[in-house]
Amino acid sequence: MKTALSIDIGGTSTKLAMVDSQYKIVENHRLNTKVCKNEADFFEVLFHAIMPLLQAYPETQGIGIGAPSCRADAIVGATNLPFSERVEIVKILETKYALSTFLIKDGSTAALGEGLFGLAKGMRNYIVLTLGTGLGCGIVLNNEIVRGSNGQAGELGHAVIKENGRVCKCGKKGCLETYVSATGIKRTVFQLMADMQLESSLRTISFAKLTSKAIFEAAKQGDALALAAFEYTAKILGRKIAELGMTFEPEGVILAGGLASAKDVLLRPTIAQMERDLLPAFRNQIKVVTSLLDTNEAALLGAASLVFNNIKANNPLYSHS
Ligand SMILES: [Zn+2]
Repeated sequence: MKTALSIDIGGTSTKLAMVDSQYKIVENHRLNTKVCKNEADFFEVLFHAIMPLLQAYPETQGIGIGAPSCRADAIVGATNLPFSERVEIVKILETKYALSTFLIKDGSTAALGEGLFGLAKGMRNYIVLTLGTGLGCGIVLNNEIVRGSNGQAGELGHAVIKENGRVCKCGKKGCLETYVSATGIKRTVFQLMADMQLESSLRTISFAKLTSKAIFEAAKQGDALALAAFEYTAKILGRKIAELGMTFEPEGVILAGGLASAKDVLLRPTIAQMERDLLPAFRNQIKVVTSLLDTNEAALLGAASLVFNNIKANNPLYSHS
């Protein structure tokens, strides 16, 4: 059975999957990235997980990786990972396993997955925003993933949207992802709790225990504070999508990740804000939807497509067709 090994590296966990050429995940594993203290530690855990998989699937064609903070074939300056210095991950894995290895930023693997199996199927121009711990972005134009000069294009989460705004883990202030992400909406809830007198079931939950899902559940019950938090988040998101819409004129924008599971509670005010901000010629054309795929799975399948399509890392534009 011909397979590809997919690796989705994230700050909380790193997912591995063996994917067959029909894009079926035949085996998967999850590693705890947080417990790794440094680069050596991380690779020890990773190698330990990879070896039995490659032994079990000897016809593995290559390794596809999605990771944050990619620059060409390396991960550089990652703020969420156990290493922030430059790590030549493609070279490391190719040397160890003698398999072609492909690296692309995590937002782009999600976009490839949505194009293959999700709501972006059939779209030639679309943008995927992953709203999880941070905010990831993958842009597909004319059926090709936009990489930029060094594979870094689409680093939207760290666009500053507010002067002297919330402190971001990247060191800057006011980054988009400190507002629009599963973590960002938690910060908004706490800000609104301090600023407003609204009664809310969320007031008894500590910051550590609060989740975007709990905020969504409260909003569904009509909790005014939770609804205000979604309105606040959606305004910023809708404005940013309008900006992207007028810059790239995509057919669709797909929202994925934990915060997107709120579906209509997030979508309705986001679309309303986007339409208000768009020039009339752009209105009622850009489909904004929430993903129907499991975000982790979409990213793993997207990473596998790099291998099956032999998408070269030195090609500035990755085609996914
Ligand atoms: Zn930032």
